[in-house]
Amino acid sequence: MQSNNEISPAKESDISEFNYEVDVIICGFGGAGGCAALESIRNGASTLLLERASDGGGSTALSSCEMYLGGSGGTSLQKACGFEDSTENMISYIEKSLEGKGDSKKIKLYAENAADHFEWVKSLGVTYKESAHLGRIVVPESNESLLFTGNERVSPFCEVAEPIPRGHVPSHEGDFGGKIFFEALKNEINSTDIEISFDSRAKSLIINNDNQIVGVQFKKDNVIQNARAKNGVILTAGGFVMNQEMINNYLPFQTSFAAPYGNPWDKGDGIQMGLSMNANVINMDEAFFGVYFYPPESLTNGIFVNNRGQRFVNEDSYGARIGYFCSKQEDQKIYMIIQNEDFNPSIYMNKLPILAVAETIEELEKEAGFPEGSISSTVSTYNSYAKNGEDLDYKKNSKWLKEITNPPFAIIDYSFENQASPAYSDKNGPLMFTLGGLETLPTGEVLNVNGELIPNLYAAGRTTAGLPRTGKGYASGMSVGDATFFGRMAGISAAKNTNYEK
Ligand SMILES: Cc1cc2nc3c(=O)[nH]c(=O)nc-3n(C[C@H](O)[C@H](O)[C@H](O)COP(=O)(O)OP(=O)(O)OC[C@H]3O[C@@H](n4cnc5c(N)ncnc54)[C@H](O)[C@@H]3O)c2cc1C
Repeated sequence: MQSNNEISPAKESDISEFNYEVDVIICGFGGAGGCAALESIRNGASTLLLERASDGGGSTALSSCEMYLGGSGGTSLQKACGFEDSTENMISYIEKSLEGKGDSKKIKLYAENAADHFEWVKSLGVTYKESAHLGRIVVPESNESLLFTGNERVSPFCEVAEPIPRGHVPSHEGDFGGKIFFEALKNEINSTDIEISFDSRAKSLIINNDNQIVGVQFKKDNVIQNARAKNGVILTAGGFVMNQEMINNYLPFQTSFAAPYGNPWDKGDGIQMGLSMNANVINMDEAFFGVYFYPPESLTNGIFVNNRGQRFVNEDSYGARIGYFCSKQEDQKIYMIIQNEDFNPSIYMNKLPILAVAETIEELEKEAGFPEGSISSTVSTYNSYAKNGEDLDYKKNSKWLKEITNPPFAIIDYSFENQASPAYSDKNGPLMFTLGGLETLPTGEVLNVNGELIPNLYAAGRTTAGLPRTGKGYASGMSVGDATFFGRMAGISAAKNTNYEK
């Protein structure tokens, strides 16, 4: 199903004057676009970056800039922190976590080059502290740079791949990774001859009489301008989480409960421009959304139950996997049972209601309005697993299996409707960004609905279906890692005009 906001290509024959003539035009100056631009100019192509906002950055600059990197024996950061990571191990983990939905060719190229990509990022001047935070954390509040950001230590993934931390985050106290990364990228770009046009919304591709892409039409200061691209156009305009019409079409289930997470121009423009050339869009029904409840990690000793008082997930999973399983519960009603000694308010708890506090689980169940015997039987079974050190239902790691026997006990309402919304959304719910987009080769060439290359068209980042394909299997860092790495691939390909050679 395609969105109604489809656009048509402009015709070269209708254009009297081109404002720019370059080899490569890049639409969107975020993580993917900036990295594409650098590789494009370094490979000899004159390059123009079009950016809709008044400055670059997009969601990449807003992000923590965790990048999911490893393989090749380990990145220099992994090695400095005492970890070895083979490419095969990284591939096994990613393949398993994406449960058959991953693109094996992209996964392989990424894993083979992720350690080199880290050196490339460092060469921009991005700094990392050679120190690991191995606790359960989303973004370190202190300044360690290496962390576990996915389900590496969680069943069933730890059974197929050795758990290695792969989250690489620029060093700074607080959550400023994206800012650090983007400033470094921008400085590097400013030291080159790349032309940048801000406040410039790419509106449509320009085609010649043979239907070949020859440029981009964009709107700047309310005036339509035209740019000619001799080698190719790269679409790096981010995802579509801010385009309600596309979200309604492609992600009706997720939008019923999730709040958008991104920059205001995540409108799907790049995807729409691709669609105007009959590009194939894939994975459009997949999105990231997370239920973060840690740190403090002691909350992992609690259990999640649904409105029937039943468990449904191993609680030591990463927030996105927890979020996926929570979304499958009736009306997305979910509750945490926790004993006082493990309870500490989390930054992510915000204003979540505490439904009841009681001296016994039976009282807790009654006070919170659950059917008699529901929560109490779940806790009793869970306690027997904890006593024996083995979770027979969900295989929560024994490290987090602790009997819930020490009163007082509390039940916290984590139902999606109670989850705090970001400042820019009037909607409550877990935060979501999109994981579907244009189908591309690992080297960035865009494919049409017949599986053929569309000459002169390349794409990367959330405009494409890239490395991260499911929320359930998402590890933090997969999106910025993907956008920056595959942005570079697209930049090299467009500079060399590769899709005429393949
Ligand atoms: C707060 C936050 C934290 C996050 N933290 C992480 C993290 O730590 N690790 C991780 O992997 N992922 C993280 N994510 C997700 C990740 O940041 C994004 O998925 C990723 O950065 C997208 O990169 P991109 O290059 O595709 O898009 P962007 O970086 O968003 O760049 C797209 C650019 O295109 C521009 N644009 C849009 N339309 C047009 C147009 N028509 N013409 C010209 N320009 C246009 C936009 O203005 C923008 O500058 C986070 C997201 C958010 C919102």
